[in-house]
Amino acid sequence: MARKKIIAGNWKMNMTPSQTVELINTLKPLVATEDADVVFCVPAIDIIPALEASKGSNIEIGAENMYYEEKGAYTGEIAPDMLTDVGVKYVIIGHSERREYFAETNETVNKKVLKAFEHGITPIVCCGETLTQREQGVTMDFIRQQVKIAFLGVTAEQAKTAVIAYEPIWAIGTGKTATTEQAQEVCCGIRKCIAEIYDEATAEAIRIQYGGSVNDKTAPELFAQPDIDGGLVGGAALKPDFGKIVNWK
Ligand code: PEP
Repeated sequence: MARKKIIAGNWKMNMTPSQTVELINTLKPLVATEDADVVFCVPAIDIIPALEASKGSNIEIGAENMYYEEKGAYTGEIAPDMLTDVGVKYVIIGHSERREYFAETNETVNKKVLKAFEHGITPIVCCGETLTQREQGVTMDFIRQQVKIAFLGVTAEQAKTAVIAYEPIWAIGTGKTATTEQAQEVCCGIRKCIAEIYDEATAEAIRIQYGGSVNDKTAPELFAQPDIDGGLVGGAALKPDFGKIVNWK
C-alpha cells in the first residue's frame, strides 16, 4: 500500500496564542487536501488555541516536545496525558535544536519515543548529521546510531505508525536544502536500517520525512522521491507558502 505523505510544520518558539489563531485562520483553506496528513507542531501554550482554530479542518495539532515521565516534580515540562487530554496526536521528539540547546541525548529520545507510544501519540523522531560528519563521510553511521537507539524497545507494530524526520543540521534554517539525491539517499538508508531492526513490512510502512529549508520550490522534487514521504518544515510553515508545500503536486 502506498504511504500517505505527511507534511508537518515545526513552529519552533514562534507565535503567541492570538497570532496562532490568526495564522491558522489564514492557512486553513490553503492547506486543505486529502492527499497528505497535515500537522502543525506548535509551542505548548499555543496547542489549545490551535486545536480550537483548526476545528473542522484537516489540520492535526502536534507538540514540539514532551517529557518521558507521567507527572511530578519536573518544572516546566509537559506530560504525555496533558497532550492526549486535549487531542494532540503527534509530538516531535529529538529535534536537533533540543539536542543542541537542551541536552537531549539518544537515550532521552528513546525514553520519549517509548512514552509517546504508550500514550498513543505518534512521535516524529528527528535525526540528522552535522556538516562535519557529512564531510567526514560518517553521515549514515551517525544516523543509523540515532535511529537504532531511538527505536530500542519499540515494537514493529508501533514502528509502522512512527514518523522519522531526516534533518541534516547544516540545512536547518540556513536556506541550504540538501540536494534531492542527498535527501533520498539518507531516507533510503534509514528505511534499510528499519528493515534490519524489524522487517521489510515495517520498513515499507514507516513514514520518513525530509526537513531542512524546505520551500515551495524544492518540495515537489524532494517529495517525489521514493523514500521521502513528506517534510518537516520550519520557517516556511509560518507563511502562506506552506499551502503550496502541502499541495506540492
Ligand atoms: C526544522 O526546524 O525542523 C526545519 C526543518 O527548519 P527549516 O525548514 O526552517 O530549515
